[in-house]
Amino acid sequence: MHIKSLTEHRQDFRNALLNWFRDYQREMPWRNTDDPYYIWVSEVMLQQTQVKKVVDYYERFIAKFPDVQHLAAAPLQDVLKVWEGLGYYARARNLHKAAQVIVNELDGEIPLDYATFRKLPGVGDYSAAAVQSIAFNAPYAAVDGNIKRVVSRLFLMDAPINDAKSAKLFQGRADELLDPTVPGLFNQAMMELGATVCRPKSPTCLICPVNAFCEAFGTARQDEFPKRRERKPVPEHHIAVGVIYRGDEVLITQRQFDGLLGGLWEFPGGQIADGETAEDACVRQIAEVVNVSVGNIKYLARVRHAFTHFKIVVDVFTCDYVSGEVVLNGPRDAKWITVESLGDYPLPRATHKFLDKLR
Ligand code: SF4
Repeated sequence: MHIKSLTEHRQDFRNALLNWFRDYQREMPWRNTDDPYYIWVSEVMLQQTQVKKVVDYYERFIAKFPDVQHLAAAPLQDVLKVWEGLGYYARARNLHKAAQVIVNELDGEIPLDYATFRKLPGVGDYSAAAVQSIAFNAPYAAVDGNIKRVVSRLFLMDAPINDAKSAKLFQGRADELLDPTVPGLFNQAMMELGATVCRPKSPTCLICPVNAFCEAFGTARQDEFPKRRERKPVPEHHIAVGVIYRGDEVLITQRQFDGLLGGLWEFPGGQIADGETAEDACVRQIAEVVNVSVGNIKYLARVRHAFTHFKIVVDVFTCDYVSGEVVLNGPRDAKWITVESLGDYPLPRATHKFLDKLR
């Protein structure tokens, strides 16, 4: 099959992609606006998360924090509560921090230039390019996982897409392709192509608007790309946690702001040691983490949850408070609250998986 060279026919490629995008793009609430704040929020949510899931979260977030000023003034706890269930909570903490920088140091205006915007907390190459191009039409190619996959197939690139060392190669190719007259539209079109046509498995090449330019399709090798570096097997950690009752209240603890699930609330507990039973680990961890002795331990549930680099199996127990003043060793805060008010606190997904049993 004759493949049109992307060096010689670059503008034809751009036109084919843009015409397709204009006709077939999916409706999304953030596509009807050029407000940089809305675009930024959507781009942050879309990192690591599917569009379908993001739509509801995006609408709730914008309703609660309609501009950068409202976001900056909100307590972090409220921001995490709206983000609850979306995962990768550092995104929410950084967005909140960045809004405060904008209000306190940048006259409340989202920076119009790439370099200043790129320096804000949580803003990486991808989100800087996406927001600056879509909101301000600045000529930066945004390169996310979808775009790397498309580019690797178009050019038959051997560089593994999950290797940080390959980032420059993919960026270079995406820069070559970018249409400098409509960079925001072009970036969105590339993302849309990756999400809906050039999908990870079984790309629909026959209806792809740029199949005439694609080396993978032209040589029937689309299933061989992108290449990936082999990942180590994901470790699994076994954890025991206790729901401690004191009268009609239970004890919850807040995780430190930095790190995994930072700022979220949970029941105290921790890893089960080798040779230890889950029940013994629950009692020991509660004593170590919050300095409280418990009795009347009863098994409640086992839940599983997968993070990017590891999985957890959590054995959950209920128990009664016996003695001890709460002294924190690890968490940043602790509260006795009623089970009914648990819904007021941002909780990890793994905790939500057994809340019904508790209620
Ligand atoms: Fe992807 Fe197939 Fe289109 Fe090539 S032709 S860009 S492999 S969908």
